[in-house]
Amino acid sequence: MNDVGPYASDEKGLFYALDLGGTNFRVLRVLLGGKESRVVKKEYEEVSIPPHLMTESSDALFDYIASALAKFVATEGEGLHASPGRQRELGFTFSFPVRQTSISSGTLIKWTKGFSIDETVGQDVVGELTKAMERVGLDMRVAALVNDTIGTLAGGRYNNPDVVAAVILGTGTNAAYVERAHAIPKWHGLLPKSGDMVINMEWGNFRSSHLPLTEYDHALDAESLNPGEQIFEKMISGMYLGEVVRRVLLKMAEEAAIFGDDIPPKLKIPFILRTPHMSAIHHDTSPDLKVVGTKLKDILEISNTSLKMRRVIVELCDIVATRGARLSAAGIVGILKKLGRDTVKDGEKQKSVVALDGGLYEHYTKFRTCMEGTLGELLGEEVFENIVIELSNDGSGIGAALLAASHSQYL
Ligand code: ADP
Ligand code: MG
Repeated sequence: MNDVGPYASDEKGLFYALDLGGTNFRVLRVLLGGKESRVVKKEYEEVSIPPHLMTESSDALFDYIASALAKFVATEGEGLHASPGRQRELGFTFSFPVRQTSISSGTLIKWTKGFSIDETVGQDVVGELTKAMERVGLDMRVAALVNDTIGTLAGGRYNNPDVVAAVILGTGTNAAYVERAHAIPKWHGLLPKSGDMVINMEWGNFRSSHLPLTEYDHALDAESLNPGEQIFEKMISGMYLGEVVRRVLLKMAEEAAIFGDDIPPKLKIPFILRTPHMSAIHHDTSPDLKVVGTKLKDILEISNTSLKMRRVIVELCDIVATRGARLSAAGIVGILKKLGRDTVKDGEKQKSVVALDGGLYEHYTKFRTCMEGTLGELLGEEVFENIVIELSNDGSGIGAALLAASHSQYL
């Protein structure tokens, strides 16, 4: 839970954001022009994280991030540079479960999404970043620590006050929504002036006996870096969908010899089939499913597949993506229900906007279409007419810069 303060829109000046989500991290600088002009200019760079840094050591990971940030700061140019004598300020989007201890500090509860560095758990991640920035000689203050869902929610509301929730569908999945503070029994502190609080649900960690798991889900979980955790995420998000497909294919190869008597060795390698590959296979509309053939050959070294077999593989991608998309929709409906926005009250046309960010939602068209279709199905046409799903590209980064601005030391 987080009192992010008023969603002020009169912040001005140059602010930085660093968005560490899973696969890549993004560094951004944003020039805020106040109420009228809002985001005047933004520049960003995306840097991939070398896989060994995801498990090696805290210092190595944060040093890598801090150096990339320092390099980016060095490219400040005309019209987009910090005011003289003013320390640069940063919003740090850190999309892993954190126990937030203040606006600019929080301890890591656990890593997810393939990260696993034991020594970071229990540490203040802002402290870790600040120390690394000092080591690389970068003078910058972390003004706000935010989760990507909170960043997306703040960024979304900055543009549109009807935004009630934010959902991430990227490497992982999570959601946050705006709740009336008095409806939060767990909250014993002072009530914020606005009467609202935002809740970071960490819904990726949802599990329930009502959520049927297949043998593939169980095996994927058991062999993961975080067994027993993030079960919902493992059924839905970009890090895992391709891996579920690979596991089913392997079983079909072993038990039904769909690729002949020998099992293609590449098919045994975990995470070799990534979700973008799966998406390319799923969207293949060529009459002979040429893309499917090429992907199987290039990624799994399986050649000479029959058209019939290719069709089966497309169908498999459809089943796995559909499950993820429908579960995501169910999660969103859960939030709308909690907010009492799943019904039309006396013909009142109140818009509810959900800000969506993440590469899975952005790029996997069939996933997105299925998710939106399911929302309509679950809510009914009349309610669904008032629900807007808004792609909030880079929302988590911009939102972090905004929150840094509203917690600036120069206010
Ligand atoms: P993060 O979640 O790390 O912040 P993104 O929001 O950019 O990063 O999401 C990246 C994820 O989006 C990738 O891990 C991948 O699973 C998924 N993705 C990216 N491109 C595609 C694509 N073309 N089709 C399906 N999924 C994609
Ligand atoms: Mg992200």
